[in-house]
Amino acid sequence: MTDLQAIVDEIHGKLQSRLGEGKVADYIPQLAHVDPKRFGMAVVTVDGQVHKAGDCDEPFSIQSISKVFTLTLALGKHGETTWNRVGKEPSGSAFNSIVQLEHEEGKPRNPFINAGAIAVSDLVLAGHTPAEAIGEIVRFVRYLAEDETIAIDPAVAKSEEATGYRNFALANFMRSFGKLSHPVEHVLGVYFHHCAIAMTCSQLARSGLFLAANGRNPMTGHTVVSSQRARRINALMLTCGHYDGSGDFAYRVGLPGKSGVGGGILAVAPGKASIAVWSPGLNHNGNSLIGSLALEMFADMTGWSVFGH
Ligand code: GLN
Repeated sequence: MTDLQAIVDEIHGKLQSRLGEGKVADYIPQLAHVDPKRFGMAVVTVDGQVHKAGDCDEPFSIQSISKVFTLTLALGKHGETTWNRVGKEPSGSAFNSIVQLEHEEGKPRNPFINAGAIAVSDLVLAGHTPAEAIGEIVRFVRYLAEDETIAIDPAVAKSEEATGYRNFALANFMRSFGKLSHPVEHVLGVYFHHCAIAMTCSQLARSGLFLAANGRNPMTGHTVVSSQRARRINALMLTCGHYDGSGDFAYRVGLPGKSGVGGGILAVAPGKASIAVWSPGLNHNGNSLIGSLALEMFADMTGWSVFGH
């Protein structure tokens, strides 16, 4: 049997000398204060074993990883009609790019680039006030992680709102094509707040476990989504979860994954485990540099790439 704790410890040890590489996101001022030398990793297996290393119990800003949870909620509310508003194709562009939106008449390529996640926030808002929609998202993440302490960091949400010029541009552009049903301020209020959820690697790995276990949370026995939906969310994470670095991540790691500019990555080894890593220094695509390396080592050592050993 694979000794996962030994693997996690070895990765932590081997990466010590490289901590601090990459560039911490500073376009959201509140994120620029984070110590670039942080590293945490947590693996939760489908049979409930937990393996951890480093700063795995320190909360960080999950940022775009939250887009997995909002997509899951939007699919629950709107089913396949979600795809009338957002595509399922990799974008090949940066996470905050506006270029494709004009050609594609305000329909974003996929739910994980910012434009797509803004469209998803609009869908989650249906029938709600922004405060209710934000509450629903936080409750959903708490339910997945079985942890009532998970919360939004209000300083990060405020910081994003104050400096979110590009996200305002994206949302206004979509609204001009009639592709948002709610006022831009409401949609972005939901978007900025879900991006500002703070979680630890341990909490994040638990909250992603349903994706590794055919839609069911094996810790609680709750069915979160159907196995077909879990499979499809994994497919989107694999093809679109790292923006214009998705091909490289698939090549090196070979697991569905979703990154955030806070330096976190949630990865899914279907049938085996959910893995969360955090290290704030980013590569040029805005994905955690050391986090990607940790997952590459992990996939190599476990042989868990979905593409074979
Ligand atoms: N909240 C961030 C933004 O809108 C999310 C980006 C990310 O994590 N890639 O820019």
